[in-house]
Amino acid sequence: MGSKSEDKAVFDTESAKQMVNKLRASFMAGKTKTYEWRVSQLIAMLNMLEENELQIVSALRDDLSKPELESSIYEIAMLKNSCKLALKEMKHWMKPEKAKTSLTTFPSSAEIVSEPLGVVFVISAWNYPFLLSLDPMVGAIAAGNAIVLKPSELAPASSSLLAKLVAGYLDGSCIKVVEGAVPETSALLEQKWDKIFYTGNGRVARIVMAAAAKHLTPIVLELGGKSPVIVDSGIDLKVATRRIIAGKWGCNNGQACVSPDYIITAKDYAVKLVDSFKCELQQFYGKNPLESKDLSRIVNSNHFDRLSKLLEEDKVSSKIAHGGARDETNLKIAPTILLDVPINSLIMKEEIFGPLLPIILVDNVEESFDMINSSGPKPLAAYLFTNNNKLKEKFVAEVSAGGLVVNDTTVHLAEHNLPFGGVGESGMGSYHGKFSFDAFSHKKAVLYKGFSGDSSLRYPPYTRGKLRL
Ligand code: NAD
Repeated sequence: MGSKSEDKAVFDTESAKQMVNKLRASFMAGKTKTYEWRVSQLIAMLNMLEENELQIVSALRDDLSKPELESSIYEIAMLKNSCKLALKEMKHWMKPEKAKTSLTTFPSSAEIVSEPLGVVFVISAWNYPFLLSLDPMVGAIAAGNAIVLKPSELAPASSSLLAKLVAGYLDGSCIKVVEGAVPETSALLEQKWDKIFYTGNGRVARIVMAAAAKHLTPIVLELGGKSPVIVDSGIDLKVATRRIIAGKWGCNNGQACVSPDYIITAKDYAVKLVDSFKCELQQFYGKNPLESKDLSRIVNSNHFDRLSKLLEEDKVSSKIAHGGARDETNLKIAPTILLDVPINSLIMKEEIFGPLLPIILVDNVEESFDMINSSGPKPLAAYLFTNNNKLKEKFVAEVSAGGLVVNDTTVHLAEHNLPFGGVGESGMGSYHGKFSFDAFSHKKAVLYKGFSGDSSLRYPPYTRGKLRL
């Protein structure tokens, strides 16, 4: 009897090609295009989520020690809402949209037809392995496409459950899951796709974009960045602190793309802010947060070491105002606040993606807008806590980020009426709600003409008289 790895068939470029060819044949036969197929797959996904909630929670616990409530809300409930919304609205989304016509084409009528793209490739990340895999798929199904999903190998229990569930519930002639890491993803990236939807880091996004360029394949890139939180004075500090904690440590212990990365506040407000964090953090996670069941662990030892290095830098290690405890065996890091961190430290140069929260001090919070715009790539999200309406207006007008939230953190992600996506190095394209349907559709322009009103203007001979008209 061979070993487990010998038993597993190698997934190479040839396997990828055959898989895509079969899916393309199903797409070309029109299987995914009907309203009935789309409805059947969305209902199947809904059933899949409802009937396997315990297994999903357990896989997320294995991969990340993700607290049950976080799994239930941010992965399962959000996905169910996406399926339900698409089921409710899809007929309307699929309808051709009437367009106005002008004198240039008179007499005519026009419409915009949402056409499925074809066979699409979804590559997802480990931190929200179900949401980031299935949510793009909801849009791709609603828009009538065939799909290959490649979940992240860094969340292996979730990846294997996703493969099992998708094969068991969804139409295998049109939707496939390929598990694996770089070799499998590379084999798939060599194929011709009609869209690639990638969630992850900017380094791999460049590989994805280069592969897509070979076939002129359009892409959506859902990336990350350093999402700042500006905290003004004169606010309800308790509420603000709790909302920052919920967006940072309450989202996978800071391992979320829109988690607050750092805080900017005025020098004379910082001590008050830190005191409030200490008080609320202790209420939420107790005296020994390393033992709290309500905090995810760090995904693996590479990321644990990366975060430890950020914390151990001389300029930073002396700045710990709260927390700092680590448990290497269980890959746990306590919520850690670093006060008055120098802007040139390592921790301020890269996306933290973990439970460390530096605070940068300024004389006046208004300075922070310039600082955010000039200090590095555009962030995925930016947050402002204030009661000052002028400051809100200036923030919205001046700060460039994928999305902004005033007086809360991360919740814009749950609002399906808003597009979710980055700008610049935090990504391109967007999804959620109707925007997901649009991300996987081609907007086909259709102009209808009759035979009457045929002007001779555009036909030769091109006389001077025609020019003057
Ligand atoms: P990851 O390591 O799971 O990688 C993402 C995907 O890329 C995986 O499926 C992986 O197999 C694949 N991959 C890795 N190396 C590859 C290579 N050389 N060639 C082809 N494919 C390759 O996830 P990650 O990148 O560590 O995720 C964290 C990053 O993702 C952070 O920057 C975070 O902000 C961002 N993120 C963004 C969003 C969003 O919605 N905007 C959501 C989650 C995470």
